[in-house]
Amino acid sequence: MIRLAVDGVEMSVPDGASVLAAVRAAGGELPSLCHDDRMSPAGSCRTCLVRADGRIVASCVTPATSGVRVEAAAEELRALRRGALEVIAAGLPRRALAGTDSELSRACADLGVGPDAARSTGGRGADTSHPYVHLDRDLCIACGRCVRMCSEVQGTFALTLTGRGADTVVAPGTGGPWVDSDCVACGGCVDTCPTGALTEPGPARGLTSATPLPIPGGPATGVTRTTCGYCGVGCSLDVVTADGEVTAVLPDLGGPVNRGHACVKGRFAHRYLRSTERLTQPLLRHGDRLVPVGWDEALRHVADGLRAAVAEHGPESVAVISSARATNEENYLIQKFCRVAIGTNSVDNCSRLCHSPSALGLTASFGMAGGTDGFDDVQRADCFLVVGANPVEAHPVVGARLLNRALRGARLVVVDPRAVGLARHADVHLRPHPGTNVALCHGLAHVMLAEDLTDETFLRDRATGLPELTALLDDYPPARVADLTGVPESDIVAAARLYGRAQRPAILHGLGVTEHLHGTDGVRALANLAILRGAVGTGRGYGVNPLRGQNNVQGASDMGALPDLLPGYAKVTDPEARARAARVWGVPVPERPGLRIPEMFAAARAGRLRVLWVIGEDICATDPDTHQVVAAVRACPLVVCDELFPSETARHADVVLPATSWLEKDGTFVNFDRRVQRVRPAVPPPDGARSDFDIVHAVADLLGASLGCPTPAAALAECAALTPDFAGLSHERLDREGAVPWPCRGPDRPGETSLYRERFATPDGRAHLAAAPYLPPGEEPDDTYPLVLVTGRRWAHYNSGSMTRRGPNLTLAPVDFLDLHPDDAERFRIADGAPVSVTSRHGSARLVARVGRESAPGQVFAAFHFPAHGVNSLTSGNADTVTSCPEYKVTAVRVAPAGATAPGPPGRPDRRPGIGPGFTSGAPGPSGVLEVGAEGKGAERRS
Ligand code: SF4
Repeated sequence: MIRLAVDGVEMSVPDGASVLAAVRAAGGELPSLCHDDRMSPAGSCRTCLVRADGRIVASCVTPATSGVRVEAAAEELRALRRGALEVIAAGLPRRALAGTDSELSRACADLGVGPDAARSTGGRGADTSHPYVHLDRDLCIACGRCVRMCSEVQGTFALTLTGRGADTVVAPGTGGPWVDSDCVACGGCVDTCPTGALTEPGPARGLTSATPLPIPGGPATGVTRTTCGYCGVGCSLDVVTADGEVTAVLPDLGGPVNRGHACVKGRFAHRYLRSTERLTQPLLRHGDRLVPVGWDEALRHVADGLRAAVAEHGPESVAVISSARATNEENYLIQKFCRVAIGTNSVDNCSRLCHSPSALGLTASFGMAGGTDGFDDVQRADCFLVVGANPVEAHPVVGARLLNRALRGARLVVVDPRAVGLARHADVHLRPHPGTNVALCHGLAHVMLAEDLTDETFLRDRATGLPELTALLDDYPPARVADLTGVPESDIVAAARLYGRAQRPAILHGLGVTEHLHGTDGVRALANLAILRGAVGTGRGYGVNPLRGQNNVQGASDMGALPDLLPGYAKVTDPEARARAARVWGVPVPERPGLRIPEMFAAARAGRLRVLWVIGEDICATDPDTHQVVAAVRACPLVVCDELFPSETARHADVVLPATSWLEKDGTFVNFDRRVQRVRPAVPPPDGARSDFDIVHAVADLLGASLGCPTPAAALAECAALTPDFAGLSHERLDREGAVPWPCRGPDRPGETSLYRERFATPDGRAHLAAAPYLPPGEEPDDTYPLVLVTGRRWAHYNSGSMTRRGPNLTLAPVDFLDLHPDDAERFRIADGAPVSVTSRHGSARLVARVGRESAPGQVFAAFHFPAHGVNSLTSGNADTVTSCPEYKVTAVRVAPAGATAPGPPGRPDRRPGIGPGFTSGAPGPSGVLEVGAEGKGAERRS
């Protein structure tokens, strides 16, 4: 701590604090128009002038030093600051100070600078081309905060200051309208602008995270702190509301992961809430049509169907797909419903389709199913190995924080077949052929062993399996690995040296590791690197950390929505675990593991599954080999679907139950680094929609089964009583403390951010090296299907796009592209922007070609945000041999020009990663009836 005096008062501030921070800590008010704590100080506006040891200084750029005597309150210093403000105000129009509420206008009011000081006549114009960011050039004071926010915090470098002298103004670096720039609409520039030159249009105008309710008498009336319901980063957000509607969503300045930042999804994509396509009445199938009915009739139909299926075919004839979008409490209740009310373990969630190999691989290597370290620790790494992940688009706030570290000197190795955003800043970018991760990791490990880049003490004292792995790695010298993966030998060596020589290396990985035929082997091969290096459980590195995809995919599994695992990952096959659950639940727990999602579909197609309840997943749009999924749904006699919108799955269901969204829910989510965070209802749901928590309770009541847990808080309390790793969690504690990571083994014990400091959680307490050989992917290109398709996410949309397509994100990314290399475009005579058909052994899709070098020759890439394009019908039924996670990342395809019948116009050229045609999933008509047509389930049934 630093001791100093501010206006005669002795005080202490932390090391590294500025004089500005010290004055504010002492209760002083200083304007600082070019300063924002989220980025580096500039000291350019001179509005924060103080005297320090007799010298006039800009307090924002002056470090607090021991013994310094700071004067800030004296009238002569106020006069200096007033003078600086008057210079700024003179270049602005009167409306910058009169009748507006901004950081600038408040500073002027405080120092007595009136509207008459504003003497510009304006006339520099506006840019209102972007749906979320409007620029009023006349209000720009060229403080540069937006530019630094874009470069230092977001890492996009989309903005610059142009012009000279008093005419200097912010502009997109690419020139042209804002909407066509590189802006990724994180909202950071809007949030930091001190004058209102940059604002979100509409009722959110002028609201910032520092001042969410600045306008006395304005429309905004409330602020609710909650956790983002899009990706697994788990940004803490402040939702500003008025009259039961969302006015704005602002990043929480104290958010433990996001630290005052957010992305285009969490920040802006909330218009879906009041979409006219929102389901507000249950629908029941009558032949080809889904007809609106009352809740009583719909729930009775579900309960009668469940009762009949169990009576006639046994509990194994029922399965439930729970939801990574739902809260922990809902997932806990859903799995309990299956086990207690139905008597089956056939409950699964979409981690099956994404990170089940991470959970299983990490458990096998280290003992627990979550990432090994908290992200704050991970960020201290001096070398990042980012494998099969594109956080800049899929986990934007994490991507921004990683980029920030890389720009400040941390070494960066990116492993990805594509030139993803981080790759541009990498020291080494390895581009393996899709499906060859295991070979590549073995190559890295081989070099580490050969060059003594391992931690022998750690391997001796805390690990097991070294002799077997060493023998295996003999077969993976760099030359052979280069042949297998296509990565140059020298790059393999360089990457191994960077990771192996780092003092504190960290590994982060995504679905490019897991969604493979041997995805679990891929996770374990990564874990090998951390173990060899002694970079896990030691503080000399930050282990292996999966970037979980959906907002609560970690929590859904933590809560036991898995066919073989009870809450807290207790094995269903373990009699003690079953007995513990039975004591809490009051009924025996079924012994036999249930069906995984692909097994549910197979059982349905075989006529063994009689009821499938799908909660918050659009399986007919997002699961691989969708023709087979649709066939399963059509074959199952009763399909129930909880949904926000008439999704593809809803259109094939027998009962559709309108559900609430994350902004309308009470509970908790678990983010990618195991932080449990509160989710609070910011707005009421539309009349007629009910939470999954209520729906499950209502069906259980009709079945005569009491689930207990009358509230979400009670559900988490019961889970805590049942599960040692969650024993310290409660809504009350989370409300008091904010985020708490698991394991948290008691109300008085802290949550553990970084794991295994004393021992690993494996049965023998050691980290386990795995000696699994590289095996080829399930599909390889051939003469008929000469290209490899990789699928993944784009920046502006989320999964099937059901929420992000129902709002202005659709303007930013209106069509979906197939990315392909210029060599392949020439080879297959495909022009940039032209419609293209893509065909695999399993299905076909229609997209718009985007020719560029992001994808390597021989590879193409597409997202799956527009189900109408059919991308997921292309992917195969191949799945990880251990966990059944689909092989989304490797599908052999061919491409051809599609003529004029492609799915939609190419739309605006998009320089950023992204895009697909306006997709309307078909809302119920005016009568509320959803016509499903000949392709729908009714038609299938009749035949
Ligand atoms: Fe939400 Fe993820 Fe964006 Fe954060 S990074 S605002 S959690 S979608």
